[in-house]
Amino acid sequence: MHHYPASIRNLIKNITKLPGIGVKTAERLVLHILHAPHKEAEALAQSILELKSRIRSCRRCFGLSDTEICTICSNPNRVTSIVCVVEQPGDMAVIEKSGGFTGLYHILQGVLSPMDGVGPDDIRIKELMDKITYDPTHAPIEEIILATATNVEGEATASYIAKLLENHPVKVTRIASGVPIGSDLKYVDQMTMQRALRTRYVIK
Ligand code: ZN
Repeated sequence: MHHYPASIRNLIKNITKLPGIGVKTAERLVLHILHAPHKEAEALAQSILELKSRIRSCRRCFGLSDTEICTICSNPNRVTSIVCVVEQPGDMAVIEKSGGFTGLYHILQGVLSPMDGVGPDDIRIKELMDKITYDPTHAPIEEIILATATNVEGEATASYIAKLLENHPVKVTRIASGVPIGSDLKYVDQMTMQRALRTRYVIK
């Protein structure tokens, strides 16, 4: 790689920081960009910068959005009485792709993990409680689906939230069969996710 000029080496180095990209792939991508029309390279660089400057958390669900309220929260066709609680925006994407859910989401932006020093105040649990107890911006929430991962942290987070909701008049369900125990939602295929949502079981 040292035979390349510094600017090529530099871009190769930066691209290999992306997940799943080794030096060989990075090299191929860099050479592709080098030979691509100037406009194409400019559009790529520009879209990366735009992503970093425009994407923020939706004020309601804490998912990714480039507006204050995301397209899901502002969609009048979504069922506002059911809220699906997930760990990360990527999990919401998995559920959306499955096409089996028409309610709203709440993204915790993390998961309880005492080993890593992540407690209830470090993730969006308080905001979830506020939403359930009092939110004049939408109709009362009737069901909370706990769709955190089925690994230790995901289970602990789901039980913690279920416990907090013990005395609230809201139905609490947990995604069920199909999601392998110990698994991260992003490895779950669409059919499995659809079934997991359909067969969710009632906690309370
Ligand atoms: Zn939103």
